[in-house]
Amino acid sequence: MTTSTKNPADFVAKAPDEASRKSARIELVGVPSSPGFAMGTVFPVANREFSVVDETLPESRLAAEEQMFLKAISKTSKEIAQIKEISETRAGIKDSLIFATHLMILQDPGLVNGVLDKIRKKHKNAKWAVHVVFGAYIDKFEKIDSPAMRDKAADLRDLYNRLMSAMDDSGPVLEDVTDEEGIVLVAHEFVPSFLMTLKPGQVNAIVMDTGGRTSHVAILSRALQIPAVSGLRNVAALVKSGDTIIVDGADGKVIINPNEDDIRKFHERQEMFERQRRELFTMRQLEPMTRDGKYIVLHANIEIPTEADKVADFGATGIGLYRSEFLFFKKDTPTEKEQESAYRHILEKMDPYPVVIRTLDAGGDKLVSGVSAVNESNPFMGWRSIRVCLDREDIFITQLRALLLANTKGNLRILLPMISSMTELRRAKACIAKARKQLEDEGHKLPVVKVGSMIEVPAAVMIVDKLAKEVDFFSLGTNDLIQFTLAVDRTNELITDMFQPHHPAVLSMIYQTVVAAHREGIPVAVCGEMCTDPMSVLLLVGLGVDELSMTPWSVMTTKKIIRSINFEDVRDAALTVLQMDDAESVNEFLHKKYAQTIMELGISGFVGQVEK
Ligand code: PEP
Ligand code: MG
Repeated sequence: MTTSTKNPADFVAKAPDEASRKSARIELVGVPSSPGFAMGTVFPVANREFSVVDETLPESRLAAEEQMFLKAISKTSKEIAQIKEISETRAGIKDSLIFATHLMILQDPGLVNGVLDKIRKKHKNAKWAVHVVFGAYIDKFEKIDSPAMRDKAADLRDLYNRLMSAMDDSGPVLEDVTDEEGIVLVAHEFVPSFLMTLKPGQVNAIVMDTGGRTSHVAILSRALQIPAVSGLRNVAALVKSGDTIIVDGADGKVIINPNEDDIRKFHERQEMFERQRRELFTMRQLEPMTRDGKYIVLHANIEIPTEADKVADFGATGIGLYRSEFLFFKKDTPTEKEQESAYRHILEKMDPYPVVIRTLDAGGDKLVSGVSAVNESNPFMGWRSIRVCLDREDIFITQLRALLLANTKGNLRILLPMISSMTELRRAKACIAKARKQLEDEGHKLPVVKVGSMIEVPAAVMIVDKLAKEVDFFSLGTNDLIQFTLAVDRTNELITDMFQPHHPAVLSMIYQTVVAAHREGIPVAVCGEMCTDPMSVLLLVGLGVDELSMTPWSVMTTKKIIRSINFEDVRDAALTVLQMDDAESVNEFLHKKYAQTIMELGISGFVGQVEK
């Protein structure tokens, strides 16, 4: 039997069918994965489809097949080790841990022995054995509906392709990428190791059918500053080599075969973007203060420790949220030492500014292998976040010890996610005390650390006055708070219009949190995506929020918004809005009052177009 590796390689971007190739203009909207505007020539990355034959071999040929497979493992390991080295130089050690994982997978006894067994016991040829064994694992991971598992499947497909190439005479799969300038790579799916083989400036952008903002590819494209749009579903089938394509990584749009008008608009938008960027940079050291003197703290959200090296360039005066679970994506349960070094990097880079590190928020759409439950019917409301940490004290205490040890500068703040009861808060604080006691007993002198609670579950808002008495700060996780308050899955594209940050229930919850916090004299931050929307920024400031934390780029645009408003004015607007009974009325009111002002700020290249 011969097969064209349907399972492991069917992610491959196939060359579009000649008959269906048209040069018609096509506009697609996907997930903005890495900001920036680019235009270029389509270079479809069509991973080769391997032809695999199912053979049953005589005993005499088995040794040669076994050798072929073992040689392929060794060749692939060398290839990956080389890529790892290049990657470490270009993107840093932390962002290159994925390749260490690939090397580990290549030594995984389950996989290696699985293939050897098929050769030795079933008398199968090496390629077929690899195809069947890897295919089964990939299938298994793909069936689990989670970005983390899909990433694992993608890692395995990457290795599958490399192994098959190594057993094939015609060379590695992805060596076809040209040195030609101005290309935009298009594929059904990219794999991280491929991205790392690109030379700096080699490609203008990447676009793909699959993926979202939390995939390894999205993380790496942001780290490498390559504009990217993912989740386009069928872009790979719609393009042909040599097509012109425009990529808008800020709005997640692509245009295939743009017309003259699109190209003119693209050039205008790109020029405007550059102009806006230059102008924003000139004001990055200015104070984020309203015209009537109200100071709003602007912090950055980061997912990779090395991002801390750059946030001050954007004018952020601290980290408002480090999502520590991303460390656990790269390596299942990192050791205390590994965690300490990652946290220390951020804390030392940011010194003397404060750094809020959120303890492990695994689960939901952030499954961490070896930690998270995988078959939950409602993962967002399942065994996740602080619930996992309180049940798995071994993991939690290790993380807390690492955090406390890394805090040599004294600028650490610990943030507890998904708190929904006083019992959880108290148990989590008891764990912090336990980790501290252990370290002090070992002779460490530790600075005092502020502890805060995320407010992202409606139950937390209902007891916010009680929580306020036992924490040092609040951070409103509006992404989850909106999701849970409105019962709208934040990842479900069918109901995105129902995900309403300006719903009266949400605004009222934010306001209640602010009032309770200020009564106890503690500050309130917002670290959800609301902070990147100009209208929401006005409302949040008006509602009395003290700190806003967002993707580093947005710090500059938000600063510009804040410097253009009067606190008195937005406070009156927020109080008016609190009386309204639906999100539509709120939006209409805000647009009437502020759309013109925001349009005139000259930040549309970053925040998208403000509707009139
Ligand atoms: C939030 O829920 O708003 C938040 C900041 O956390 P995450 O997006 O990681 O759930
Ligand atoms: Mg959250």
